[in-house]
Amino acid sequence: GQTPLYADLGGDAQVSFEFFPPKTEKMEQQLWASISALAPMGPRFVSVTYGAGGSTRERTHATVERIARETDIPAAAHLTCVGASKAEIAEVADAYWQAGVRHIVALRGDPPVQGKAFMPHPEGYASAADLVTGLRALHPFEISVAAYPESHPEAVSAQSDIENLKRKIDAGATRAITQFFFSADTFFRFRDAAAAAGIDAEIVPGILPVSNVAQTRQFAAMCGAEIPAWMDRLFDGLDDHPGARQLVAATIAAEMCRNLYTGGVRNFHFYTLNRAELSFAICHLLGLRAKGVSS
Ligand code: FAD
Repeated sequence: GQTPLYADLGGDAQVSFEFFPPKTEKMEQQLWASISALAPMGPRFVSVTYGAGGSTRERTHATVERIARETDIPAAAHLTCVGASKAEIAEVADAYWQAGVRHIVALRGDPPVQGKAFMPHPEGYASAADLVTGLRALHPFEISVAAYPESHPEAVSAQSDIENLKRKIDAGATRAITQFFFSADTFFRFRDAAAAAGIDAEIVPGILPVSNVAQTRQFAAMCGAEIPAWMDRLFDGLDDHPGARQLVAATIAAEMCRNLYTGGVRNFHFYTLNRAELSFAICHLLGLRAKGVSS
């Protein structure tokens, strides 16, 4: 017979949440309200992004350090090698290690001018794989890296992009987190291709709950992800209906997560954009229940 909706989601999913470092006092309050709201979901870790070209170095550090100090959630710091020498990277990595941070999301980063080719710093790392090797030599960090189910926009081919992911794993990363995507089949094809290439590290789907298509289109244009036409249609006419927009957003993301779960996925990473509500609702639909929290 037919599988009843959500009947099989038994609460064995595990989640992680991504945040960006706040710019203002108000944004800082919003971030901490979101962390407090999501903490009871018992995330495996939360991560904090690194602004383009390392522009948020201090703010990322301050945010990750505060999470490490004030919560019992393992905190991961994103780190990019664009525009930085190896010595500067070592300084940043040492400061994290000293602050008790044990998990780095290691990335190459994007060129400072959009559309220009990436140029490594003359004394820097040339790619994320190189950065992973460098970090490994410094401290025994847990390292996550980026993966692209629809291929990275600069990749020569889908196959070469997968080979690059394999280099990052072989260099010492333990997990890949994917760019966002909007079809479970896209993820499954990528997972199969990665397995065929001999990648056995976990590949965690990055879930972006979309409630603002225009904003998502801007992100997507930069990172090569496709916004399907059906998504525009689903949000068409909802500009003046924020409540309905949130419900539609939760439905789309939850449906995709349910399909991923049915296909064997148990780990999910949420791009929260520093807002808790949608990610919280989707975790709930995935069968997770908020637990009493000690922090
Ligand atoms: P790499 O893995 O080095 O790959 C870059 C490109 O070069 C790919 O096309 C790859 O196929 C190609 N390549 C690399 N080595 C070789 C080789 N030897 N031969 C042929 N081709 C090669 N950006 C930020 O600035 N801050 C963040 O906090 C941040 N967080 C992110 C988190 C996640 C989960 C993801 C998916 C992305 C994130 N990004 C972030 C974006 C990321 O920095 C960009 O996508 C960047 O353009 C590529 O970074 P990478 O680590 O994937 O690079």
